[in-house]
Amino acid sequence: MAQIVSAFWKRKTLEQMDRQEWESLCDGCGLCCLQKLEDEDDASAIYYTRVACKLLDLNTCRCSDYANRRRHVPDCVQLTPAMAEEFAWLPPTCAYRLVAEGEDLPPWHHLVCGDPQAVHKVGISQAGRMLAEDSVANEDWEEHIIFRV
Ligand code: SF4
Ligand code: SF4
Repeated sequence: MAQIVSAFWKRKTLEQMDRQEWESLCDGCGLCCLQKLEDEDDASAIYYTRVACKLLDLNTCRCSDYANRRRHVPDCVQLTPAMAEEFAWLPPTCAYRLVAEGEDLPPWHHLVCGDPQAVHKVGISQAGRMLAEDSVANEDWEEHIIFRV
């Protein structure tokens, strides 16, 4: 009799995943690469803007020079399983945050629906709606807030 094996993100913790599983979790939304603002009066609040990191491709939502990104963006954060308890700063739709919080992946996630473009088709990503970093003065980022976490 065939054995039904549940999806790896339901039976493994982030720490237990192999590299391929870990990498495949990313839905490619690019939201974590958007510029963020902190609230001086509320240290726990992070505001996401539609202003993109200078290396983010505004249409594909992918880093345009991932291998060398630290040369251009020294504070780029590389997510690791060891950081899982600190994933509250990530977008609520981020697969790493969802799994870290014991949640399932959404229906549009490519591991669930099989379509890597679904994240763009259903409007989770900001593909085509982002602003280039050098097109908006830092003091104007506040005008482009899209959500807070
Ligand atoms: S927010 Fe999460 S799922 Fe989206 S690109 Fe960043 S790491 Fe990947
Ligand atoms: S350097 Fe690349 S991976 Fe890092 S935030 Fe910018 S676009 Fe994202």
